[in-house]
Amino acid sequence: MARPSGMPGRNCPRCPRLVVFRKDWREREPSWFNAPVPSFGPIDARLLIVGLAPGLRGANRTGRPFTGDYAGDLLYATLKEFGFAEGDYQASPDDGLTLIDCRITNAVRCVPPENKPTPQEIATCRPFLLAAIGEMPRLCTVVLLGRVAHETFIAACDARRSAYPFSHGGAHGIGALRLFDSYHCSRYNTNTGVLTPQMFRDVFAQVRKHLDAAPRPAVAGTGA
Ligand code: URA
Repeated sequence: MARPSGMPGRNCPRCPRLVVFRKDWREREPSWFNAPVPSFGPIDARLLIVGLAPGLRGANRTGRPFTGDYAGDLLYATLKEFGFAEGDYQASPDDGLTLIDCRITNAVRCVPPENKPTPQEIATCRPFLLAAIGEMPRLCTVVLLGRVAHETFIAACDARRSAYPFSHGGAHGIGALRLFDSYHCSRYNTNTGVLTPQMFRDVFAQVRKHLDAAPRPAVAGTGA
């Protein structure tokens, strides 16, 4: 099989269950995006945020990660507060919101039933995560939203899961990358008090501090 680029094709056939789900929603809601959702934000960003998978009526509808559901309201408000986004987030891909030194992707690119990708789907989509990491020339910092994002990222780095346990507010170094863990900013987690907006802010405050102190990595060969 050819090495995947950072983006699966619109009709990616790799996960049979997700293909069936996608076909069903293409019939039910033909005006929705209903396809693997591309990463969002500048490719030369230093920060990558990894979510779980597109929400059915969020990214799967709009085609932009975290756009159109509650998780996006909290994520984009927090990114703006810490200088990683500018413009008005209006839950639509044409709202003009831009990310600054920050890019967002998902562990699984297609919407899964009930927001729950299977371990096999997570592993099948991992080459696209790996490609997304590889295509960012200045990447040095990663925020992992939830345990699934954390564990698939550790696996993508070929590291041992037991050496890098997930914990909200925890941080790890892997090679040249600094990883920051957060509980996922889902409505469920905020409604149940697992994650408060302040807890989420505290993670991004740490990330901002880290990046402000980090030397800006040059792009190989450009002297930039
Ligand atoms: N929307 C996304 O794109 N990813 C998530 O993890 C949740 C909502």
